Amino acid sequence: MRSLLTKIKEIFVPNKSIPKNACFFCKRKMPDLRNYRNEANKRIKVCYQCVEYAERRAYRK
Ligand SMILES: [Zn+2]
Repeated sequence: MRSLLTKIKEIFVPNKSIPKNACFFCKRKMPDLRNYRNEANKRIKVCYQCVEYAERRAYRK
């Protein structure tokens, strides 16, 4: 079981465990990432394998 402090950290820093050059969907580090914007207009990186998924979600480039 995770400690309460860990849970609090996750709430305030949700992307801490995700590497900067990792795909938004599969969280894998990929060399060819494309920039998209999600529904919250936040910049995300999507790998070529997840681009189709991003397009389906109507994420903009
Ligand atoms: Zn991906």
